[in-house]
Amino acid sequence: MRVLVSGGAGYIGSHTVVALVAAGHEVVVVDSFANSSPVVVGRLEALIGRELPVHAFDLTDKDKTEQLFASDRFDAVVHFAGLKAVGESVEQPLEYYENNLESTFSLLRAMRRHGCTLLVFSSSATVYGDAEPPYREDQALLSSSNPYGRTKVMIEQILRDVAAIDDTLQVAILRYFNPVGAHPSGTIGEDPQGTPNNLLPYVAQVAVGRRDRVAVFGGDYDTADGTCERDYIHVEDLAAGHVAALAHLRRALPAESSVDGKGARVHTWNLGTGRSTSVLAVIRAFAAASGRPVPFEIVGRRAGDMPRSWADASLAERELGWRATKTIDEMCADAWRWQAANPFGYGDA
Ligand code: NAD
Ligand code: UDP
Repeated sequence: MRVLVSGGAGYIGSHTVVALVAAGHEVVVVDSFANSSPVVVGRLEALIGRELPVHAFDLTDKDKTEQLFASDRFDAVVHFAGLKAVGESVEQPLEYYENNLESTFSLLRAMRRHGCTLLVFSSSATVYGDAEPPYREDQALLSSSNPYGRTKVMIEQILRDVAAIDDTLQVAILRYFNPVGAHPSGTIGEDPQGTPNNLLPYVAQVAVGRRDRVAVFGGDYDTADGTCERDYIHVEDLAAGHVAALAHLRRALPAESSVDGKGARVHTWNLGTGRSTSVLAVIRAFAAASGRPVPFEIVGRRAGDMPRSWADASLAERELGWRATKTIDEMCADAWRWQAANPFGYGDA
């Protein structure tokens, strides 16, 4: 298939570009580089062994999006583009709603106009709000405590509404748990701007000497070691989940075309491992993988943190034949290879 990857220069998008090409797809990227570096394009071209067509514009621009679809032909869109920092979304709600919703509207309109019928969308475990894990896709109430998460809840709903009146559209909503790690080559990886909000990149920057110590947010949770637990998933497993979802949508296309539930056109799958790991266990695993000390200090809880989160990942296994296979040690080893080779991310290039 010819696949447009929106946000393909970003962390998950770049790894998925590699997986899509390896699966035999032709890939075109659109990215504004609002939260990524153009350096990634050359790294991707080296990994995939061919030129990667990249369109640098903001998808909230409906005219440019329309022009792209008018000048090319896409069988599918994998839609990663979006702003994703929870704290920033609280400070800048309008920017988040505008960017994440408008970019989706632009894509949906252009897809509809140009007969592109397959869409894979990046959602998040954040839509499960403060429900008790393990999370299942059919949990009725979706909510989130912050504007970023609410853009995901809203876009999921919008996609269901649009699919209900467009019987050609096939949508996969993928709810990611905690993506970490990097391509085993160490040439692409996660490169957060400024101070990392997420645990793994923070730990990696401590190990490489950019930061003193990890502040562990809370040691008094009702968990095995008192720190929060998350379902960390290797970004390569996550990328493989997109390839599997796309294959499923293509298979479903000719046979399923009703809204009455028999031919569900909006599929929702959790992409997680089904296991959870504590903050202290992550720190230990990273220290072992890197051979570097990772000093830490237990500080107060972070507002809004759930004590634990993990996926019921059985639906994706049953329906997609996909399962995450990489361990937390492999996630840390690959994250470390990337961090050690690129202590300042793509800024080193
Ligand atoms: P990222 O910031 O690395 O990648 C997103 C990319 O989209 C960036 O390259 C950015 O420049 C681009 N972009 C943003 N707005 C755009 C716009 N209007 N037009 C064109 N390009 C635009 O983030 P990521 O971690 O790779 O996440 C990808 C997707 O997965 C996002 O939608 C995110 O919300 C979702 N997600 C991420 C996580 C996570 O922990 N990383 C978890 C759950 C869901
Ligand atoms: N965390 C931490 N120190 C940090 C960053 C995160 O202790 O500097 C904890 C955080 O409280 C949570 C876990 O690590 O329990 C994962 O946090 P992250 O932000 O990566 O993922 P999310 O909480 O969004 O699932």
